[in-house]
Amino acid sequence: MLIGQTGVYVYYPPPTGDVCSNCVVIGGREKIIIDPGLWHLWPFLEKNIQKELPFETRDFAYVVHTHCHPDHMDAGAYLEERYGLVQAMSREEKEFLDNGGEAIFRWMGLDPPTGTVGKYLEEGSWELADKVLNVYLTPGHSPGGVCIHYPEKKTLIVGDLIFARGFGRVDLAGGDPSELVRSVRRMAALPDVDTIIPGHGPSIVGRERVEKNYEIVFKLLEENGFA
Ligand SMILES: [Zn+2]
Repeated sequence: MLIGQTGVYVYYPPPTGDVCSNCVVIGGREKIIIDPGLWHLWPFLEKNIQKELPFETRDFAYVVHTHCHPDHMDAGAYLEERYGLVQAMSREEKEFLDNGGEAIFRWMGLDPPTGTVGKYLEEGSWELADKVLNVYLTPGHSPGGVCIHYPEKKTLIVGDLIFARGFGRVDLAGGDPSELVRSVRRMAALPDVDTIIPGHGPSIVGRERVEKNYEIVFKLLEENGFA
């Protein structure tokens, strides 16, 4: 489903009862998949993506993991193997994954991820064939979580940092409430954001709604004693 005029699509997994995340696709000449989700649900997502954005291997360059939780990144290795997509995540998150972070896969009854991180995401601009994205390191929910800003479309993809009327949990391994608050503050200060696409639940579309949502999130952070 295309979100407004952003050129960014969100695909929701089927209602299987699994914990699962939104899959985001940035369209254009060099397409990107962000958070492909659980491997066993990928065929459903792929069918829906194909309907709107006919899938040719050469169109898709990267599969980006906002963070290493299985409900977001599990299908990454499959996409690398099947379509040759380059898996991308922050070095900080990969280090976390390799040093205890993968326990959450076993906890969910899944095998830890395989494959290779072919691109380490760093703070700053990331130039692709037909677009520029800005990468922000936004720890808090996970130590090396990232947000992806697409300034031309005023769109911010936030993973599990914040949601519509909520924020990411900090009680999993690597979570840190004060880091989360700092990351939310940084994202709230970005000038060019009219659309926020979280890793779960609905997108927040429209500048006023974005501002209102930050108000709600900060209030909730305060109520929880985090800010
Ligand atoms: Zn998560």
